[in-house]
Formats: sequence, C-alpha cells, structure tokens
Amino acid sequence: MKKEKKSKRILVIGTGGTIAGKGDNFKTSDYTAAQIKIEDLVNEVCENTIHDNMDTIDYFNIDSCDMTSEKLIKLSNYINKVSESEDYYGFVITHGTDTLEETAYFLNLTVKTQKPVVITGAMRPHTALGADGPMNLYQAISLAKSEDAINKGVLVVFSDTIYSARDVSKINTFKPAAFGQKDLGCLGYMRDENVFFYNSPTKKHTIYSEFDISYLENLPKVEIVMFYPSADIKILDYVSKDCDGIVLAGAGCGNVSTSWSEKVKKIISSGIPVVRSSRIANGVVTYNEKTIHEKGIFAENLSPLKSRILLSLALTKSTNLEEIQKFFLEY
Ligand code: ASP
Repeated sequence: MKKEKKSKRILVIGTGGTIAGKGDNFKTSDYTAAQIKIEDLVNEVCENTIHDNMDTIDYFNIDSCDMTSEKLIKLSNYINKVSESEDYYGFVITHGTDTLEETAYFLNLTVKTQKPVVITGAMRPHTALGADGPMNLYQAISLAKSEDAINKGVLVVFSDTIYSARDVSKINTFKPAAFGQKDLGCLGYMRDENVFFYNSPTKKHTIYSEFDISYLENLPKVEIVMFYPSADIKILDYVSKDCDGIVLAGAGCGNVSTSWSEKVKKIISSGIPVVRSSRIANGVVTYNEKTIHEKGIFAENLSPLKSRILLSLALTKSTNLEEIQKFFLEY
C-alpha cells in the first residue's frame, strides 16, 4: 500500500469499548469490551492502508457505561494539553458506543481547539465476523487528517457517516449503523478515506464555548427524570434531595401532569434549576421566557442526555435561570 510521503501526525486516544472488545467463535454478541490495546488496533489499520505517523495512548480501558464526570474532565483537559504542546494535526478518540453521544457533546463544549477531533467506536467486537471497528477507525483517522474537519467542532464517524457531536444519538442497540442525527440527517459521508461534507454545525462549540473545566475535578450533579402517566411524584422528591439540577424528559413538548407541574414549580423555587426536554426523538421544546420560573428552562432540541451535559456545565457558571436558558439557546 502506498503511504503518503509525510503523513499528518495524529494522536489516537483509546478509551475502551466494543471497538477494543474480544469474544469467542467470531460472534457479534458474546464478548468483553475494552480488551485490546489501541496501539494494536491502530497498527493493524496502518499496516493495511495509507496511514502512518500515528501516536497512540490507552487513556482509559473501560466499557463506556463506566464513564464518569471526573473521567470526562480528565480526557478533555488531556486533549487541551496535548493540542497546545504537540504538533498533532488532529485527534481520534475510540469510545464505547453506549455513552459516546454524551462524551462527544461534553468534548464539543470543552475542548479548546479548531483542530479535528473525531470520535468513533464499533458495534461488533474486534474478533467478530465482519467487525466494523477497523473501517470506522480508518475513516476516523482519515477525517482527522482532513482540512474539511477543521473548526467543525467535535465530530463522530460511524458506518460511513459524519455526525456532529451535539446532535448525534445512538439509535440502534446492535446494528453497525447504530448512530443518527434524527430529523437533522448528518453532516456528511465517508467513502473509504474520502470525506464529503454537506452540512456544518450552527451552534457554539470548542474555541467559541465559554465553558472552562481546566480547574475542575468534578461537575455539578444533574439527574434525568422521565415522566409517564401515573409516574410516582416521589421520584422528584427523592432526586431533588441530592442534586444541583434536574432534566425532565417530559411527554410531547416537555409536558408533565398537573401534580408534577406543581412539584416542579416548588423545586425551582427552592433553587434547583429544572430543564424541560422531551422523551420524543424529534422537534423542539419551545422557549417561553415568561414561564421558566414555573415550568423550567426549555431544552430547545437537545435530548435529555445532552441536556444533562449542558446543564451540568451551565451550573459551573451560573444558577440564574435566565442565564442558563441563554446557554440552551446558544449551545
Ligand atoms: N458496552 C459497550 C460500551 O459502550 C458497547 C459498545 O462499545 O458498543 O463500551
């Protein structure tokens, strides 16, 4: 395979997940995540393709369900440190798919670089027949070397498709095409190493973001509570005893029952900000500045999962409801 003469230098940061998973009998289902070193995965991709000049680090070796706020802060601060001190053209992060969307959005809001930052993973372990990891990793490296990926915020590559960190969601529990941007489609496609962008993120990200986590070890505690008919109101009592903010996954346009509405109003007046998002995949929970002290801050089109990330960062800057609402309109 012909290599580029002086290939752009890329750092691949492994965090574990199924892309580094091992199982028996070539199966896609029985396996353990986070077993293979990122160096081995990258070497394999480099041996067989155009890529070289790659550094690797096993930053975490976890199933992404074990990701925590402390780990997110460490990862983001690490990327900020190396992007200043080293001459990397771009960064690739390999990650478990289960919570990839939360990590992607957190990095999108806290990484301070215009360089390409691309996250990928796999739905099938490395030992499966038809493992999707090698192609996803190959395409993530290709995207991290692309000029077109500069200043686009954190990007996710999965199954030949480029997504924005803000809008990407996991949409399938086991198929290789496991991610999507719902109504918003995607940012572009990849065919082998070739990059095709059609859309750009419109919300603030990376160097345009005002969130600074360099001095933090943990984040304010934000919990998500889902509403459904006859949901026990005691859930709200329980959660509000030990948190800094609440995200409601409401019905329809962020709605809850009459009794929940009363409780939410009390929680807000006790000083705990509540964000109203929706359990519906598409659409906007519309903004009404007159009711944020009664009904809560409106999540715009952010999912409950993404709203939790933004509210926890917003709370590092302010507990004022109007100011937090502004963040939800801008990010
Ligand atoms: N449980 C795995 C993880 O999120 C799933 C995956 O990577 O696909 O780490």
